[in-house]
Amino acid sequence: MGEAERGDAAPRIRMSYWCAKGHESKPSFSSEAPIPDEWDCPKCGLPASNDRENPPPAPKVEPYKTHLAYVKERRNDVDGDAILAEAIEKRRATKR
Ligand SMILES: [Zn+2]
Repeated sequence: MGEAERGDAAPRIRMSYWCAKGHESKPSFSSEAPIPDEWDCPKCGLPASNDRENPPPAPKVEPYKTHLAYVKERRNDVDGDAILAEAIEKRRATKR
């Protein structure tokens, strides 16, 4: 009775996975379930594989951030000039 309730009758397999950043994670799997080739690194979220020498390449990291950075860059260039010009314009207007 107690055996079944504990639910640890099935042996578990502990696997090591490494991500591209070198983090190691050791999830354990039921020996009855298929072991996945890739595992998401719990530390950084990158895919990790059980081949330490060949971790899966990091996917494009949060592309929206890159895009935002790009937009910010552009805005700094364009708006920066516009704001500066506007400020000069205002100063001229008040000084007149
Ligand atoms: Zn990682």
